[in-house]
Amino acid sequence: MTNKEARLEEVRQFLPQWLEESRKEAASGEVASYIPELSKASHTALGIHLLDIQGDSASAGDCGMSFTLQSISKVFTLILALIDNGEDAVFERVGMEPTGDNFNSMLKLELVRPGIPFNPLINAGAITISSMIKGATPEEKSARILDFFRRLSGGSPLKVNEAVYRSEFETGNLNRSIAYFLVENGVLNGSVEEVLSIYFRHCSIEATCRDLARMALILAGDGTDPLSGENLIPRRYVQIAKTFMITCGMYNASGEFAIKAGLPAKSGVSGGILTFVPGALGIGVVGPALNAKGNSSAGVHLIERLSQRMDWSLF
Ligand code: GLU
Repeated sequence: MTNKEARLEEVRQFLPQWLEESRKEAASGEVASYIPELSKASHTALGIHLLDIQGDSASAGDCGMSFTLQSISKVFTLILALIDNGEDAVFERVGMEPTGDNFNSMLKLELVRPGIPFNPLINAGAITISSMIKGATPEEKSARILDFFRRLSGGSPLKVNEAVYRSEFETGNLNRSIAYFLVENGVLNGSVEEVLSIYFRHCSIEATCRDLARMALILAGDGTDPLSGENLIPRRYVQIAKTFMITCGMYNASGEFAIKAGLPAKSGVSGGILTFVPGALGIGVVGPALNAKGNSSAGVHLIERLSQRMDWSLF
């Protein structure tokens, strides 16, 4: 735990104005369209919700908007895979290093032996992690993931956005290629289509900024829900997830984000960002227009500015 404080009263005073200023950054971004259904999101939307360990909250902008978790879900499937299999078994199948490549790149799978994914937050790693979730059938595995996410969100009735799921299942040929490559390398066992259905389903779980902030609050509490006192994740697994969020949570802008905001974070192609100040608060942001590195243009701008003003950086 750090001695950082949320100081939401102070945040509330400038949040609405800062959000509108950050919203302008969306103009330079693009909404993701490689999953066709995602392209329907509003280009200019921007919302934020902050929730501290006392249960105090602050929000602004389009914080009621629903969006799919996409890569943000990878943090929590990693944690569930760690709970299901233990640390040694997980790291036999995925590495611990950033790639410097795109999230959906296959390059290093072929170039760097023994062909295991570099980390669990790139697609190759997350698909491998999906295959490690316990359950007798793909449906049972997906149901366990959804149930785990609901518990982390304080009981929010999260569900899969079926239109986004179908859209990705129908067009996800690059992910299919990655999965077949992993089978060939002996990293992935079983049916590619079944593993992909689990992976696409958790990427398509729909949430709001409040849900993200609530889930992030559990990480801020080192695995214990600060609001109920219940331990939901072993502290060690939060430590692992948090480290990956710092080193590769913001794609190839993770170093820059660590310097400018200094917070563990994970973004997704839907424009969501989940971040937190350890020991103090959880934050959920959405802004669908993405910058060249694949992170929400307006969202990154807002979080960096907030963190600098509030001195939230861990470093
Ligand atoms: N479901 C997305 C994909 O596999 C997740 C990508 C992301 O959010 O980075 O392409």
